Amino acid sequence: MNTTSFADLNLAPEILKALAESGYITPTPVQAQAIPIVLEGRDLMAGAQTGTGKTAAFALPILQKLLPLASTSTSPARHPVRALVLVPTRELAIQVEESVKAYAKHTRLRSLVVFGGVDIKTQTPHLKTGVEILVATPGRLLDHVEQKTVQLNQVQILVLDEADRMLDMGFMPDLKRILALLPKQRQSLMFSATFSNEIKKLSAEFLIHPKLIEVARSNATAENVTQKVYLVAQADKHALLAQLLRGSDATQVLVFTKTKITASRLARQLQREGVSADAIHGDKSQLERIQALDAFKQGRVAVLIGTDVAARGLDIDQLPMVINYEIPSAPEDYVHRIGRTGRAGASGTAISLVSPEEEKYLKEIEKLIKHEIQKENAIAPHPAARAERAPRGEHHERSHAAPKKPSHDPWFDKPYEPTVSATTENKQLERPVSKPKKEVAAILVRRQS
Ligand code: AMP
Repeated sequence: MNTTSFADLNLAPEILKALAESGYITPTPVQAQAIPIVLEGRDLMAGAQTGTGKTAAFALPILQKLLPLASTSTSPARHPVRALVLVPTRELAIQVEESVKAYAKHTRLRSLVVFGGVDIKTQTPHLKTGVEILVATPGRLLDHVEQKTVQLNQVQILVLDEADRMLDMGFMPDLKRILALLPKQRQSLMFSATFSNEIKKLSAEFLIHPKLIEVARSNATAENVTQKVYLVAQADKHALLAQLLRGSDATQVLVFTKTKITASRLARQLQREGVSADAIHGDKSQLERIQALDAFKQGRVAVLIGTDVAARGLDIDQLPMVINYEIPSAPEDYVHRIGRTGRAGASGTAISLVSPEEEKYLKEIEKLIKHEIQKENAIAPHPAARAERAPRGEHHERSHAAPKKPSHDPWFDKPYEPTVSATTENKQLERPVSKPKKEVAAILVRRQS
């Protein structure tokens, strides 16, 4: 148990004030370990679970180090980019910069976020005024470099956040181009929730004699997240999801699908059933994504359905429940997805709906997290009902044998019509997350022996 306080970490009063205002009382373990190392000027390779307070672990010492360089001058030349934080997704970029801004609010240091998917021209004037801390996705940063709206030759500190994800998403060529633009003399910090061999290789390439910290066992899932698996036919997943949503006390539920099309379809289906749901994925415009996320954070949308793109960046305080409508084929993604709940000490529930075809992925996940997840069988009560629902089930989408369908299926525009009405005495149906107008088939759940 660490008893360090933020004041023990040699942070300036203006930073401590902002932390107090953010409601932070004690540093999280990754903060307690990382902050002194970064202040010392060492390179760092940090393996930390999602939701452990990684952002402040690098942002606070960066602010502390840059404080003497803060300037009141309006000249852009007095505000060169001194710290560059690279992140893989737009959502994460926005959230990291929001945190930096909150921690820096009593300092004169400026921060900015740039990411793709929005008009580059809207970012240019802000960049031109000069910022000390720039949070960016790699592609958009390079666009700005090409347009000469940013210079990176005074960067003293580089942060690669979610480095494993950057690797997965194929950012290596962009990263190498960016690195070539930075001064050789600099401090580099790398954060990664998972510690694959590739990540270790990457760290050997980018970091110089790094200090290694690993706060929790790498690849472990947050201990305060209760995990559960329902073994269920793909065709029954929608009914089970609706049932789980209605049976849950959770006011906010994040649902993950593998594909964008399933996310959109599921959102539409749930909306028709009276659940306030929305989808967030890479095909949505940046504005739509931000609006959906804001509505979810403010509680106007109870169920947010997303693909893995959404998994990384989202930081929603006290998110009580995550449901994997489909489990990811990359086991690391499971860790990231369920890391959306149980953040910063809060408890959470992570439920996965696993079809027989997905059980192989489940085995991989259990191998990675090094424990078996509790399983229950979920079965539709009437086989006939299932057969009737099957043609409209989501299983078409990912079935390898499924014939190619026309891009527009008129079925999607029809209102959802349940085939079996729910048993109202089922206790699970009594507390809806939002009031459904229609019932969907009740699924029987049996604990697996
Ligand atoms: P992160 O892992 O950086 O995404 O942080 C996860 C969540 O924990 C965010 O909501 C932070 O605002 C919050 N957080 C970070 N550090 C602390 C702290 N020392 N005390 C309380 N909450 C924190």
